[in-house]
Amino acid sequence: MDHTRTRLTIVGLGAAGSSLAWRLAGTDVPFDVVEAPRGAIQRTQDRTWSTWGASGPGPFGHLVAASWPRVRVVGEDGTVTADLGSWRYRMLHSTDLDRAVRERLAVRGVPVREEVVDDAAALGGRIVDTRPVPVPRTGRTLLWQHFLGHRVRTARPVFDPRTVTLMDFRTPQPAGGVAFGYVLPTSATEALVEYTEFSVDLLTDEQYRERLGSYLERAGIGAHEVLGEERGVIPMTDARFPTSGDPRVLRWGANSGSVRPSTGYSFTALQRQADDLARQAVRGEGLRLPPAHRPRHLLMDSLVLQAMASGRVDGARFFVDLFRRNPVHRVLGFLDGSTSPVEDLRLMATSPRAAMLRTVLARGPAGFPRRITGGR
Ligand SMILES: Cc1cc2nc3c(=O)[nH]c(=O)nc-3n(C[C@H](O)[C@H](O)[C@H](O)COP(=O)(O)OP(=O)(O)OC[C@H]3O[C@@H](n4cnc5c(N)ncnc54)[C@H](O)[C@@H]3O)c2cc1C
Repeated sequence: MDHTRTRLTIVGLGAAGSSLAWRLAGTDVPFDVVEAPRGAIQRTQDRTWSTWGASGPGPFGHLVAASWPRVRVVGEDGTVTADLGSWRYRMLHSTDLDRAVRERLAVRGVPVREEVVDDAAALGGRIVDTRPVPVPRTGRTLLWQHFLGHRVRTARPVFDPRTVTLMDFRTPQPAGGVAFGYVLPTSATEALVEYTEFSVDLLTDEQYRERLGSYLERAGIGAHEVLGEERGVIPMTDARFPTSGDPRVLRWGANSGSVRPSTGYSFTALQRQADDLARQAVRGEGLRLPPAHRPRHLLMDSLVLQAMASGRVDGARFFVDLFRRNPVHRVLGFLDGSTSPVEDLRLMATSPRAAMLRTVLARGPAGFPRRITGGR
């Protein structure tokens, strides 16, 4: 196939598709986009994406809706608060990204078709397919990150608008997982407040509401009105995601393992991959999937997930101690995939070594998982 002439079609205009479309719109690569129409069950719901670091996220810095210079993690026995220095924790709305990408594509004359795609290969040409796929059950561990969030407005000023609460563990903890509150304040009286679990079983609607309500009370948020809602279910697994099996169709996004197993986040990894894919397309090469995460980070994630799911490690204590015993840039850098091997070793030295060693010993030979934990 002559890749320099073959049209590229991006299926899906979510985090992955938008990130590639934005970059290609500045080049002479011929491409178009197909996205499920609003109202179709396949269409991804609106959401907010958070990232952190010195700059970014990727080329979308101008779309950042809110940013914070400080983070905190709250344990039963105290709070760790850390200044981010020149880094920021940032949040953008998927609706803003969608609007900006569509405007850019319209200016460049790139067609966006509103259509549900059933068979990506049938579109012809080269395809980057970002549609979701069933989560593979082939890893050692599968937990779900599942949450309900309310955008709330309080009667009195209760939030510190400079500080994000990444994890507040003052919630009952599920066996083989963790539960925590997550607070993104946009003013002293407004915030996105989420109740999140990393666990094997999802909850009923009533249980999410009840647990979010209890957390709001526990955190002293008091009387409030609900302005909006965000919910999600994200797989946290060390399974490998299968390729499409068709050399013309490159699966990419959450469907190809871009979500970091230990965090459920993918936006920053997608920016790195989008840079690489756009470069390949400009060079007229056949597209190869760049790795989303480093192998050693995936191994560390796999151990952490397994240690937590098996109950060898108390998840809440693990995360609080991680932030307590390391500089914040080391922890956030690790969770983002930007730490060096030396920094990773320092981080590992602060983990509960005996429990992690027992987890390693229980794994058996690589490639022969003894059991799969979790599932839906
Ligand atoms: C509620 C929620 C919040 C999250 N927050 C964060 C966060 O803060 N930070 C972070 O890093 N990660 C976050 N994640 C994880 C991850 O970054 C997101 O899931 C991200 O959206 C994955 O990007 P994607 O492009 O792979 O998938 P999506 O963004 O879901 O994009 C897939 C696209 O394909 C389209 N589509 C699906 N089926 C079809 C079809 N048949 N035909 C045509 N189009 C189709 C969809 O409409 C969608 O636009 C979050 C996930 C969820 C669920």
